[in-house]
Amino acid sequence: MCSIYYGIGGGVWAVYPVVFSISYSCGIFHSIITFILSVTTIYTFSSAAFRCAGTPPSVLWGSYPTVGKGDLENYTFCHCCSKPKSPRTHHCSSCEKCILDMDHHCPFIGNCVGAANHRHFIAFLISAVSSMIYVSFMSTYTGLHIWPPLSYKSLGHLNQYNSREMVFRAIREVILALLSSALLLSTRGLVLVYLFVSSVSVGIGLSVLLLQQLCYIYEGKTYLSHLSSRGNDEVVTKDCQNLLRFFGCPYSLSRYLPTFRKKRHKK
Ligand SMILES: [Zn+2]
Ligand SMILES: [Zn+2]
Repeated sequence: MCSIYYGIGGGVWAVYPVVFSISYSCGIFHSIITFILSVTTIYTFSSAAFRCAGTPPSVLWGSYPTVGKGDLENYTFCHCCSKPKSPRTHHCSSCEKCILDMDHHCPFIGNCVGAANHRHFIAFLISAVSSMIYVSFMSTYTGLHIWPPLSYKSLGHLNQYNSREMVFRAIREVILALLSSALLLSTRGLVLVYLFVSSVSVGIGLSVLLLQQLCYIYEGKTYLSHLSSRGNDEVVTKDCQNLLRFFGCPYSLSRYLPTFRKKRHKK
C-alpha cells in the first residue's frame, strides 16, 4: 500500500511542474485524471484486501435428527476448521479458514480471492493496469520535454555506406547520443526514467494476471477449479454470459449483447 502512495507522490513531483509549465488547462486536466485513477486504485485495493474473501454457508451438523437427509450431500470435512466443507469451498492455509469459491491466495493484497471479493480484485487489476498505462504515457510525454538535446557526431557521413550498414550505423548513433545525453539528466529526468521502466514492467505483469483471470471467468471457473478439472472428462462451457454474470450485468442488458457459446468435451 505504501508503494502506491510513494508511486503517486513521486509521479506528481516529477510530472506536474512540467505539465503545468506546458499549459495550465493541460495541468488541471491531468490532475483530475490522476485523482480519479488514484482514488479508484486505492478504493478497489482496500475492498479486495480488507474484505472477507467469502464465508461458506453455515450448516447444522452432527448426528440424526440434527442433520436432515441429504443436507450434507457432496460436503467433505475440513480437518483444520473441524467442520463440514461445502462443495465449492477450499481451505486456505495462509488465512487459516475455509473460503467459498476460493480462486487463490494473493500475497500482494495479503488476502484470499473468493466469492465475496473476486469482483473487487478484478476491478483493482483493471484500475491498476489503466494507471500503469497512464503513468508510462505521462512519463514518456514529460521526459521528452525535459530530455537534454541529443548531439550526433557522425550522422552527416552516413551517405557513404550501403543502405543496410546505414540503418545499423544510424541506430547505433541514436543509442550513443541517448546514452551520452542521459548523463546530463536532472533528478527529475532520472525519476521519470524509473517511473517509465517500473510502470511498463508492473503493467505487463498485471495485464497477464488480468487476462488469465478473465479467461477463467469466461470458462465459468476459478483458478483452483481449473487446476482440479485438468485431465477430467468434463464439459467445458465457454460463454460471454459468464463474464456478464460475474460483473453483475442486468439480464435485460445482457440479452442484447453478442454471445459466443461453445461447448466441447475435454479429452
Ligand atoms: Zn477449513
Ligand atoms: Zn488465504
